[in-house]
Amino acid sequence: RSAVEIAQEFIDRAQALEPKLHSFINLTPEIAIAQAEAIDDIIASGEPMPKLAGIPIGIKDNMCVKGTLTTCGSDMLANFVAPYESTVTAKIAKAGAVMIGKANLDEFAMGSSTENSAFGATANPWNLECVPGGSSGGSAAAVAAGECVISTGSDTGGSIRLPASFCGVVGLKPTYGLVSRYGLVAFASSLDQIGPFANTVKDAATLLSVLAGHDPQDSTSLDVPIPNYPNLLTADLTQSLKGKKVGVITETFGEGLSEEVAAAVKKTIAHMESMGAEIKEISCPRFAYGLPTYYIIAPSEASANLARYDGVKYGFRQPDIDNLLEMYAQTRETGFGTEVKRRIMIGTYALSAGYYDAYYLKAQKVRTLIRQDFDRAFEQVDVLVSPVSPTTAFKAGAKTEDPLGMYLTDLMTIPVNLAGLPGLSLPCGFDAAGMPIGLQMISNALREDVLLQVAYGYE
Ligand code: GLN
Repeated sequence: RSAVEIAQEFIDRAQALEPKLHSFINLTPEIAIAQAEAIDDIIASGEPMPKLAGIPIGIKDNMCVKGTLTTCGSDMLANFVAPYESTVTAKIAKAGAVMIGKANLDEFAMGSSTENSAFGATANPWNLECVPGGSSGGSAAAVAAGECVISTGSDTGGSIRLPASFCGVVGLKPTYGLVSRYGLVAFASSLDQIGPFANTVKDAATLLSVLAGHDPQDSTSLDVPIPNYPNLLTADLTQSLKGKKVGVITETFGEGLSEEVAAAVKKTIAHMESMGAEIKEISCPRFAYGLPTYYIIAPSEASANLARYDGVKYGFRQPDIDNLLEMYAQTRETGFGTEVKRRIMIGTYALSAGYYDAYYLKAQKVRTLIRQDFDRAFEQVDVLVSPVSPTTAFKAGAKTEDPLGMYLTDLMTIPVNLAGLPGLSLPCGFDAAGMPIGLQMISNALREDVLLQVAYGYE
């Protein structure tokens, strides 16, 4: 079949599933067909095929694609057509992928269930009454439901790993700085990182090899050699994990963890041991401070990043106001949703004179302590493992009135962002209701090679 025929099949499938799932804010069939035609031309010319030739992909709608709507799931950007291209989407297009659409997300990536989107929630393909996780819920659901083959997400506190776990797909948050953030709408700049969703570890590795690499447009981008990740995943790994040291984080098996999740994760660890991995228990005593630390740092950075939405430069503006300050206030009052306003208020408070030392500065110190726990752990093991989340996907609406309960969903993923490390979510079983369970695997900075190898070996 031609690339155009394949693209059309995925578009048809997505159009049929969207009324139930709502994984996408916008489908982009014209772009997909044009990109697929270009691939068919390459095939006809006999030229070498680029890495992702003809592969249908979903792009989280907080990444700018020039000339398309980039809404960030917010009324504030409901009419925002990106005037420039993000580095990741430029690389993806160059690699020959075919963009099916812009995936749904929690407004400005703030949330754990994709219920905070101004354009309606996404459903979990395994049970339409459950949430897909968030904030990259659209990207995860689209891959799980076969509306596309791979997708991009962004992860500030767990937004790739949590939806990957809830939807039963592979999701990877790379080392901070490995993937350019140029053209990613900023949430919390010291934590945000773009990464892949896929059905298999090898597909995730292939997409990562396209996304990764130095970008002078992002001052935090790392200038390091990028391994050919999929080439590192050799057949012998699937026979044996001999020589790999795996640490189990003690603190993640505490209170609040569902028995079914604990059982599935422990079974996976036992299986890794039977494949030759050396299993060690590792304590990360400051892990527990991750959540409160994150909810000072992330809202502080968000309050600064979101100050630009004032109705002047771009996006929504409240009409019929004749006074400038009132125009700012009314634009922000109408344009932002409840969770985004909550974050802006928390962040503005934490950064204000007199509170800065008590909250923001203290949080930055704790962030260093958390990083030190990981440093000590990686003197002893190659990868750390834990559950991704204390529970499997919950029912839609179950936590919408309970922000703290929602925040707790990310308890186990957040410390990884604070330390800037890579984290992967790997499907590792199902609960009694048939909902997927995810294993979180963490490696030292820039050791995506080891992380992918162990995940591939087990998968
Ligand atoms: N759920 C977390 C939050 O709401 C993490 C979101 C993310 O990683 N973008 O902040």
